[in-house]
Amino acid sequence: MSDTIAAIATGMGSSGIGIIRISGDKAIEIADKIFVPKNDKKKISMMKSYTAAYGHICYEGEMYDEAVTLVMRAPHTYTTEDVVEFDCHGGITVLKRILDLIISLGIRPAEGGEFTKRAFLGGRIDMSQAEAVMDLINSKNEYAAKASLKKLQGGLKDIITTMREKLLYNIAYIESALDDPENYSLDEFPQELKSVVENLLITIDKLINSSGNGRLINEGIRTAIVGKPNAGKSSVLNMLLDEERAIVTDIEGTTRDTLEEYLNIDGISLNIVDTAGIRDTDDTVEKIGVDKALDTIKDADLILYIVDGSVPLSDSDHTIIDKLHGKKVITIINKNDMNLVVDKLWITQNIDTKIVELSAKERTGKDELYHILKEMFFNNELSYNDEVYITSIRHKNLLLEAKESLNKTIESIDLGMGEDFFTIDLMAAYTSLGKIIGEELEDDLVNKIFSEFCMGK
Ligand code: GDP
Repeated sequence: MSDTIAAIATGMGSSGIGIIRISGDKAIEIADKIFVPKNDKKKISMMKSYTAAYGHICYEGEMYDEAVTLVMRAPHTYTTEDVVEFDCHGGITVLKRILDLIISLGIRPAEGGEFTKRAFLGGRIDMSQAEAVMDLINSKNEYAAKASLKKLQGGLKDIITTMREKLLYNIAYIESALDDPENYSLDEFPQELKSVVENLLITIDKLINSSGNGRLINEGIRTAIVGKPNAGKSSVLNMLLDEERAIVTDIEGTTRDTLEEYLNIDGISLNIVDTAGIRDTDDTVEKIGVDKALDTIKDADLILYIVDGSVPLSDSDHTIIDKLHGKKVITIINKNDMNLVVDKLWITQNIDTKIVELSAKERTGKDELYHILKEMFFNNELSYNDEVYITSIRHKNLLLEAKESLNKTIESIDLGMGEDFFTIDLMAAYTSLGKIIGEELEDDLVNKIFSEFCMGK
C-alpha cells in the first residue's frame, strides 16, 4: 500500500536509550538483515508479534550497537502496519548511523508526523486524535499535555460524534417522512427539531468559547505583576527570570510600558506581563501604562500582587486591591530584608489571596512562591478544568461553519419553510463537524439512512 519508513523516535538529546522505528511492509525484512539476535531462534521474521529479542545491529561485518528489538505485526500496531523498533543506546551519533544504514538499504526517512498519519489512514485513530498526538508532542506545558491527552482519549471525538448522530437521525427522519408520509409524521416535527438544534448550538458555542482557554493552554497561564510604583515589580520579575531584562530604577513610574516574559516553573508555563505602577497620575505616558495595567488585571488568569513590605499600605494599594476581587491572586510582600511594617492581616481580610514574603533584592523566598504556585496549579485553581478544549484553528473554523448552518436551520423553521429546506443546512452542519474528526460523508450517511429506516427502495 505504501512504502516503508524509518525514523529516530526519541528526542535528539543525550539519553540512556534511543529508539529507531521502522514501519511498513518491508520493516521486518530489513530488520532481519541488520539485526543479529543472540539466540539464533529469535530471527525477527520468526518472532511473534509483541515479542522482543536481544542482539546486535550488525551489517557486512560492521558492528553498530547492541539493541533490544521489538516486533509488532500488522494490523495491531500504532501505524496498523508491520512495525519494528530497535531500542539502542541513546546519543544522536549512534542512532544516526543506524538510521543511515537502514536508509541505505532502501527505506525512506519518515516525514514529521508520518507515523501518526499512517495511524489515521489505517483507521486506527480519527483526525482529532491525530491532531491531539501532534499537540501532545508539541505541548509546551502540562496544561497543554492534559488537554491533548483528553482529546487523545477521544473527548472531542465523542462530542462531535454524538452531535452528528443527532443530525443524521433528523436528516434521515425528514427524508423518510417525505418519502413515506403514511408512516412518518412531520406534524410536530419543526418545533422538536428546533429544540434539538438549539441544544446542539449550545454545545458548539461551548466548544468555540473554550478556544479562548486554548490561548491559556498554548501560551501558559497569563500572569500579571501589579503593584504600586517602587514596590519592586521589576525586581521580582528579574528574580523570577533570573536575569536583568526589565528596567529597574529608583524613579517612580519608570516601567512605562508592559513587558511580556515567558517563564517555565517545573513544567508550568507562566506568560508574565509586567505593568506600570497603578496610581492616579497626570503624566500621560504613565497614564497609558496604568490603563494597560488595569486591562491586564482583567485579562489575567493569575495576579502576582507586589507589596512594598517596608512601608504601610498606601492609597495606590487600596486602588489595586479594589480591582483584585474575584481574581486568583498571590500577594508577594517584598523587601523582607528590611523591617516589615505592612498590615498583612488587612490584605487577607480584603481579598482572597495567598501570601508569601520574600526579598527580590536578596533573591530569597522564591521557593515558597513556587510551592504556592504549584499547589494552586495542581489543585486546578488556576482556571483549568477537565473540559474538552479546542486548541486548533481548523477545529474552531469548522465549528463556526456548523454553527452558521444550524442558525440557518432555525431561521428556516421560524419562517415556516418546508422540511426539505432543513436537510440542506443540517447536512452542511453534519459535514463541517465530520471534517473535524476527518470522516467521509457519503457512505456513512447513505448506510445509516437505509439501515435505520429500511426504506428499501
Ligand atoms: P517597581 O517600580 O515596582 O518595578 O519597583 P523596582 O523593581 O524598580 O524597585 C524599586 C526599588 O525598590 C529599587 O530601588 C529596588 O532596588 C528596591 N527593591 C526592590 N526589591 C527590593 C527588596 O527586596 N529589598 C529592598 N531592600 N529593596 C528592594
